[in-house]
Amino acid sequence: GSAVARPADTRIFTVANQKGGVGKTTSTVNLAAAFARDGLKVLVIDADPQGNASTALGVDHRSGVPSVYEVLIEGSPIADVVRQSPEFPELWVVPATLDLSGAEIELVNMVSRETRLSRALTAFIGDPSSPNVDRFDYVFIDCPPSLGLLTVNAFTAASEVLIPIQCEYYALEGLSQLIKTVDLIKAHLNPPLELSTILLTMYDQRTNLARQVADEVREHFPAQTLNTTIPRSVRVSEAPSHGKTVVSYEPSSSGSLAYREAAREINLRGSDLQPDLNATHTRQ
Ligand code: ADP
Ligand code: MG
Repeated sequence: GSAVARPADTRIFTVANQKGGVGKTTSTVNLAAAFARDGLKVLVIDADPQGNASTALGVDHRSGVPSVYEVLIEGSPIADVVRQSPEFPELWVVPATLDLSGAEIELVNMVSRETRLSRALTAFIGDPSSPNVDRFDYVFIDCPPSLGLLTVNAFTAASEVLIPIQCEYYALEGLSQLIKTVDLIKAHLNPPLELSTILLTMYDQRTNLARQVADEVREHFPAQTLNTTIPRSVRVSEAPSHGKTVVSYEPSSSGSLAYREAAREINLRGSDLQPDLNATHTRQ
């Protein structure tokens, strides 16, 4: 049996930060792999036209492959485009192709342009209270580095926002705009949305600057910032070129262990919110 308890309900995270290169994709795929490795059922939705999450998870995303583009623009069901991860049977992936780069513009004049992903996801994960559905425990949506309609669709489909922050100069710049956007989505489109989690990435504890940034983030967001930090590690950056997450590429590396620890911390924090519900949902 697994030592990791399933959350009482599916937890849907949007992984967002309008800055590029802060660890959104790396965190998305490695947290997802960490949960899948612990026996939980996980869905990753790649919402970035670059398709980096699809690459890291070893899922085909050449142009023309059925993808999140068809879901958003043509109304295809997620069931028609979702792929099983080659490494973890409990991990499923909605790939993104370069076709998605046009979607930001195509969505502008569409009906329900902000809620198309949300509707598709709700239909796919179904009624979580049904005992017959082997429901997803975690959903992670990987966002592009912007606050455009793709990210808005991701915010509207989620219940929690996870912000990866790279511990470097300017790390907090742009954060207030990101939080304002989350507040707007909460007010107008998706009231349950919460910024629940901040993850410090590429952390080098030997440098004063990294420590200062981490302290500042914890001061501003004491409840949201995970105790676990992700160290900078060559293994983490190598893994995608093998079509793998670091969790499967180099399971005992510092990056893999850190992401597994972060996943467990996220899971525990969720169960703190609903302590008595959780006890009945442990997978056999
Ligand atoms: P984003 O999705 O926010 O643009 P990525 O997850 O793609 O950011 O990360 C940006 C770059 O940094 C990538 O080349 C990635 O491999 C690398 N990277 C991310 N996390 C780490 C880490 N912990 N150690 C070393 N390199 C990392
Ligand atoms: Mg990315």
